[in-house]
Amino acid sequence: MSLEVPPSARPHCAVHPDVLAGGTCSRCGGFICADCATSLLGDGRIYCVACAKRPGVDYLEAFRQEYWGRRDSWAWTVGMLTLSLVLGVLYSAASKGPPSRKEWLFSALFLATVPMGGAFFLGKPWARHALVATPLVVALGAGVLEPALRFQHLLAALPFTFVAVHIHRDVRSRLFFRRDVTPGALAALWNRLRNNPIARQAFHFGFSSLFMPLLSPLAVVCGVVGLMRVNLQAHPPIGRRGQAIAGIVLGVVSPPLWLFVLNYLDQRFGLVWKD
Ligand SMILES: [Zn+2]
Ligand SMILES: [Zn+2]
Repeated sequence: MSLEVPPSARPHCAVHPDVLAGGTCSRCGGFICADCATSLLGDGRIYCVACAKRPGVDYLEAFRQEYWGRRDSWAWTVGMLTLSLVLGVLYSAASKGPPSRKEWLFSALFLATVPMGGAFFLGKPWARHALVATPLVVALGAGVLEPALRFQHLLAALPFTFVAVHIHRDVRSRLFFRRDVTPGALAALWNRLRNNPIARQAFHFGFSSLFMPLLSPLAVVCGVVGLMRVNLQAHPPIGRRGQAIAGIVLGVVSPPLWLFVLNYLDQRFGLVWKD
């Protein structure tokens, strides 16, 4: 009797019936071939293609779906600026007398940006690109109305263009506009928003407490909470142990350091407290 299993009896990939399976999916148990086997970031297991895309398995996919089409702080900022622009123009029209021709043209120039601002707030894809061009277009228009100040208008548009380009590239803003983002960019955003942000905050407070010692209790509290949240066995793993510890250490060290420095200055120069 032979124990040899004929190839026809050996398991085949559920998706590719002519390819022999190399293993099974960790979630559904289906047979998978080498082409179908998918591993995910921060997870040692192997999945079939269908299971790897499930939000319950792929935390980055779940994260992406959570923010897909959801308005971000940039959309609110642009929306609120647009609203205050409209209110500002209405207010100045109401409070002053009849506008001069130039004032009228400037109001019209600013109000021309309102559809872009509204569309950006509503997540219309064209407004994402229009936002980048808007400061320059407004500056060129203002240069036509005031040729003597053309250069100043262009200069004033520069910081706005800089911010608009930043928004255009922002991953969170791309998710609001339902634009695809690379897995790496998505992982970086997840790391910023979800990977133990309180531990990162602890480090920031700890560092700032070297200059503002009143922040040191905050650094210690955030550091302790952050340290308790570290869980490398979780899916996805929660890290930043080092930042939590650094926050605690800096928070603890900063007040005595300040006392030492103030005391030294007092002894040396009698600068701090005199009686
Ligand atoms: Zn599966
Ligand atoms: Zn396959």
